[in-house]
Amino acid sequence: MRVPVLTYHAGIINGTDYLGNDHVALAEDLALIQRLGLRIVPLQEVVDAFLERRDPLPSGCVALSCDDGTDYDYRDLDHPVAGPVRSFHNLMTDFQFRHGHAAQPGLHMTAFVVASPEARQRMDERCLQDCGNYSDDWWRPAFLSGRWAIENHGWDHNHPELDDPGPHGIRRGDFANIDNVEKADYEIAQARDYIDQHLSPSRSRLFCYPFGHVSDYLHDDYLPGRGVELGLDAAFCDGAEPVTLSSDRWLLPRYICGWHWKSPGELEQLLRTAG
Ligand SMILES: [Zn+2]
Repeated sequence: MRVPVLTYHAGIINGTDYLGNDHVALAEDLALIQRLGLRIVPLQEVVDAFLERRDPLPSGCVALSCDDGTDYDYRDLDHPVAGPVRSFHNLMTDFQFRHGHAAQPGLHMTAFVVASPEARQRMDERCLQDCGNYSDDWWRPAFLSGRWAIENHGWDHNHPELDDPGPHGIRRGDFANIDNVEKADYEIAQARDYIDQHLSPSRSRLFCYPFGHVSDYLHDDYLPGRGVELGLDAAFCDGAEPVTLSSDRWLLPRYICGWHWKSPGELEQLLRTAG
């Protein structure tokens, strides 16, 4: 089994070109995936196959994820530079109108979201447009649409724009600073509880390291022990490899748009060699 997991950031809108606007990129990439005859599967199916809860996935599968959970995942926006921007959700809807539901019956996106309302507000003020576009009211309708999973990207991303130090003496800006149980519960268990309130009776099951920063404590100790108790199945990072049956459960790899590929041609090359 070799399944590439592609990752987008809806907050990356620097213009209207493929490189620097992940909405333009996702629209083109969905068309490319279709043209290459690949099959989009929910990320949880990849994890279930990895954990041998189901048969390994056949060749030609690809999974989609996106990080940080801004409203641009789900809602269109008018951007001061880029103009009207189609949300990831509506790009998937457009794709299915164009190609028909039978084209990609497993079309699905997994959003790794920042849980804390206060942290999202601060990041909206300082990193987005300060227009209140970093909410959580879209999580449940997205999840209920059947096209989204809402998963754990930490309580506050340990973002550098937050007050430093944070609770439990957390030094900001590096998720590898989450190196004991108090800090890990603050970031991961607290986020799990908040997200699960919005998904009830369903639950979040996946974690993704903010910034791709991994502490030995989280990877070796907390996630394999307490993480499993919290209901977590696996953790994702970057890594630029397909998920295989020999991947590391607490460090499953993904490819990041704008970093591991910068054009449809590079993605085509990546998918041909990875899948
Ligand atoms: Zn992130």
